[in-house]
Amino acid sequence: MWGRGLDSGKDYPQPVRSVFGYRDGMGNRWILHVDMNCYFASVEQQCNPALRGRPIGVGGKPGTRSVIAAASREAKVRGVKTAMSSWEAMRICPELIIVEPDYRKYQAYSERLFGILESISPQLEIFSIDEAFVEVTQPQHCTQNDAESTLRPSANTPVDVSPLEVSWLTATVQRIKTLLHTHLGAVLTASIGLSRSKRLAKLASESQKPNGFTVLLGDKEAELVARFQSLGVRAFTRAALYAVTPVEELAGIGSRLGRRLRGSGIHTLADLATRSLDELRPIVFPYERELYLVGRGLDPSPVVPYWRALPEQSIGHQYTLPSDTAVVDLPPTLMWLAERVGQRLRAQGFVAKHLSLYLRQTHATGWGSGYRTSTYLESDTALYKAAWYLIHTACEDPLVPLSYVTPIRMPSLTVSELVPTRAASRSFLAADQRSQALTRALDAIRNRYGNQSIRSGLSTTVHHHVIPDGRRKRFTPDLTATAVVHSDYGLCSGRMES
Ligand SMILES: [Mg+2]
Repeated sequence: MWGRGLDSGKDYPQPVRSVFGYRDGMGNRWILHVDMNCYFASVEQQCNPALRGRPIGVGGKPGTRSVIAAASREAKVRGVKTAMSSWEAMRICPELIIVEPDYRKYQAYSERLFGILESISPQLEIFSIDEAFVEVTQPQHCTQNDAESTLRPSANTPVDVSPLEVSWLTATVQRIKTLLHTHLGAVLTASIGLSRSKRLAKLASESQKPNGFTVLLGDKEAELVARFQSLGVRAFTRAALYAVTPVEELAGIGSRLGRRLRGSGIHTLADLATRSLDELRPIVFPYERELYLVGRGLDPSPVVPYWRALPEQSIGHQYTLPSDTAVVDLPPTLMWLAERVGQRLRAQGFVAKHLSLYLRQTHATGWGSGYRTSTYLESDTALYKAAWYLIHTACEDPLVPLSYVTPIRMPSLTVSELVPTRAASRSFLAADQRSQALTRALDAIRNRYGNQSIRSGLSTTVHHHVIPDGRRKRFTPDLTATAVVHSDYGLCSGRMES
């Protein structure tokens, strides 16, 4: 799938231990965060020279609830931001060219990107379609013995980093940039951060866009920072960068959380470090622990190569409806969500024992509920029926603030308590086996011809497309060829039969 294929990882030599001990709470690892700049927009400009140098936004047409998934640099300087509605973007920048997203193109460029990074180090963690962490702890010119003696755990004694290692790291980043230029094209650039942890490497890469290279190290490593600076590299100690970085720059801090932090006198990342866990809790619950660790620059989490990643704990999907929709009209969207979740569940070789449903409203928080079964949830129909059962039960209960006419903005469906299919005892009932055979046949068709190639009759009124990998934004382009299957799914519309 990526670069040289999913299975190729097992042929690599065992990586050197990832965490060699801690100094300044950061460990002696070297981790790169590589983040492509304005990714979807840059791919479009790379593929179509007529778009270069012009403000473009990749997203759905204005007039729907579509958002801009990526804006080119030219659009960003005019005020267009990622995740802004297309309508708002066109108002701010009337000359904006909206380009319909083409995910196969972005995926193809991603595979090239990850192939290049994998050639630098097999310790590659794919973070999203255009971002990855690469652990480069062991310089390739060191022998195993050299590396072991330099990098042995040493909690108290400072580890000496040789000038050779500093110049090797700098040369490695330059090499990545050259390879990207050669193999992806001149328009596609990356911002690269180098640090001792994933979190700080990401902060470093985000601090300079586009085409940046920034080193961010602990406060006790000022000498090392100076060594990088002497090579012309942009390098900071944590205290220096934290003092000038607004809290909103931290990935995951939205406008609401940002306002809460500022209201409590926390304006920069340095301010975050002055608060204890107990002081942060009432301000940012439930993210206090996360932000406490960020404030102190702590992040021992290892780089987990994709071929070692643990299976997912839950699988979910959500969809922002083009306009608020009454609960009674949700079945097509629920069926569509069930198909998306079901397909991923089965592709990863799992069945589920729990399903949770959340219906978010525009002017209220929303309603959620969970369904646990003693058997297994596997087929799309089973997922849909469980979801509708939860809604039906809630609507019939006068104590639950949900009715068939409640307007809903965004339904989301998640399955958890996953059990490997091979470990699950299966039904011998003929009807169940027929349903399993139908599900397998539908999956085979979708795997071969794409998600939209075959859909249940119930879900065909839902027209949308999903960005693969990492991202959670949705678009609503028109459907191309859609084969409709009218099967026993039709029975699922209306009320749950229980
Ligand atoms: Mg990016």
